[in-house]
Amino acid sequence: MEIKIIKCLQDNYSYLIIDRENQSACVVDPGESKPIINFLEDNKIKLKFILNTHHHHDHVGGNKELKKKFNAKVIGFIGDKHRIPEIDIKLNDRDIWKNKNFEFKIYHIPGHTIGHICFNFFKEKYLFTGDTLFSLGCGRIFEGTYEQMFNSLKILKSFPIDTKIYCGHEYTFKNSQFCLFHDKKNDRLKKKILSIKKRLDEGLPTIPSTLKDELETNIFLRCITVEKFSKLRDLKDNF
Ligand code: ZN
Ligand code: FE
Repeated sequence: MEIKIIKCLQDNYSYLIIDRENQSACVVDPGESKPIINFLEDNKIKLKFILNTHHHHDHVGGNKELKKKFNAKVIGFIGDKHRIPEIDIKLNDRDIWKNKNFEFKIYHIPGHTIGHICFNFFKEKYLFTGDTLFSLGCGRIFEGTYEQMFNSLKILKSFPIDTKIYCGHEYTFKNSQFCLFHDKKNDRLKKKILSIKKRLDEGLPTIPSTLKDELETNIFLRCITVEKFSKLRDLKDNF
């Protein structure tokens, strides 16, 4: 199973999970359809499933057109069935879903939105975190509470440390400056910032990160109490 990162809109990432055996793919959070259609057509790959982490437009904007073009099925959280456009398959928290070589488990991780989920391809250790966990950051709390977000991050922290983190946006550099401001003595963070800069200079995504990296450098994952977390989250909103 291989992953192709597709840039969408301003700073979004969509991800194709490609099964070469069957020349078929799932897409995670298609913010728009065009760049995804282009890649699939150029590579003669059929799109089978559309996976949405949450209902925001920059994550579902391509649903309708992709579904129409490839006859793909849209998969999302049952609690968001009225706001995920064109949803076909409604999953519950902790459901495992399987089709041919595609197999993943979903976790309900509210905070950014009430119905936010992540997709864990546990055999490959791929984790699609949407707008909940970013590299060196976490999502804004739009609908949930600080406590919900804190607990959702706690769930993500419990995956194997070599899990690869695929998040919804290229916010890594901006996030890194906030982490550094509050964690000036973190040498691992400084080292990671150098590699981030190098990748961006080369026009490459900073994604995927690994859970190990995030546990060592992401200040939001390093908070022990919900009070500290809430304070940092507020500071980040005005950084
Ligand atoms: Zn969002
Ligand atoms: Fe987003």
